[in-house]
Parts: sequence; structure tokens; C-alpha cells
Amino acid sequence: MARYTGPSCKLCRREGKKLFLKGDRCLSDKCAVSRRATVPGQHGAGRKTVKEYGMQLREKQTARRYYGVQEKQFKKYYVKADKKSGIAGENLLSILESRYDNAVYRMGLASSRKEARQLVRHGHFTLNGKKADIPSIILKVGDVIELREKSRSSEKFKGLIEDMANVTAPKWLDLNKDAVSAKVIAMPARDDVDFDFNEQLIIELYSK
Ligand code: SF4
Repeated sequence: MARYTGPSCKLCRREGKKLFLKGDRCLSDKCAVSRRATVPGQHGAGRKTVKEYGMQLREKQTARRYYGVQEKQFKKYYVKADKKSGIAGENLLSILESRYDNAVYRMGLASSRKEARQLVRHGHFTLNGKKADIPSIILKVGDVIELREKSRSSEKFKGLIEDMANVTAPKWLDLNKDAVSAKVIAMPARDDVDFDFNEQLIIELYSK
């Protein structure tokens, strides 16, 4: 399935929740969910009844859109989470949270996960000292992400590096603001996820 290239706000309106896909705009009064909280489309305002399957599907779509993951990849994450010991739903969120692009976003070096994905693809970061431009890499304990030396002097990053001073990184990332780097010191836990997912619904959907 091709990557969605339409308006991001439409995805939030479809889920009826703010998915924070557009950086600062999401916190402003221009946010489309705050202004018009109906489902897009001609009959959007009339759609009300959601059955069990619908709830499970919507929760999966919410998580997929929040992290910017395509369906095939998301299913692979579920399979991996289900095989691991522990609670499958929590394992799934931990995998999603430990994506390389999400870590860059959590370092405060991008205003949204979408922007983080683009910056990773453009080769602005190294992973364990080597250039790495694949946003879907799942990080491990001990991995170190660093902004490349030549990217630090660019106008874009100068501002972001200044803003980093106000960033509070999640506890699984050890942020070194001077080196503009972060080390993974633990795998993300359930309470590191800053969105109120009902992950059990996603597991129920895939376990059918
Ligand atoms: Fe979603 Fe952000 Fe658009 Fe609001 S502004 S609808 S949170 S993408």
C-alpha cells in the first residue's frame, strides 16, 4: 500500500482525536480537530454507532497514523510483539516507540514524527557512529543517535538545537544536549508512551 500523501488533519478528524502530525499547528487554535470535530465526508456528522470491530479497527488506525507506519509494517510489529514474552499490547507500543524516527522526534529535533522521518531519510543523523537513513530501524539498548557534524551548522538545526534546551526526553533516552545525541538506556515502557492508546483493542483485532 502506498504511503498516504493527503492532508494530515483529515486523518485526525477521521479518528476524532489529535494525532499531533503537524508540529506547532497542533497546539494552536488552527487545529482542525479543535475547530471541526466531525468525521470528514458528506455523511461525517451523521456517523455515530461504532461496533466492536469498528472500535478495534479505529484504535489500530490511530496507532498506525500516530507513528506514521504502513499497514504491512504494522502487522509485522504485531507478530513480533505477540512472539515476545510479556503483554503483547505493551510489547507493540514499545516497538513502535523505539523506532529510529520516533527517537529523533523525542530528542526534540523535529516538530513532528513526519518531519523526523524526513530528516532521517535525508541523512542528518548517525546511528552508532555510522550514517543511517532508514526511519523504521528499531533501536536497541546501547544505540546512540547523533546529529551529523555538518548538519549542526545548518540554519534549520541551529534553531532546533537551541530549542532542545527545553526538551524533556523520555526516560529510555539519555539525551546529551551538548553533543546533540541520545543513547538508548532502556526499552520504552508503557508509561513512556505519551498517548492514551487502548492497545488491547489492537491485539484483539489481529488475533481474530
Ligand atoms: Fe491533527 Fe495537528 Fe491537524 Fe490538529 S493540527 S488536526 S492535531 S495534524
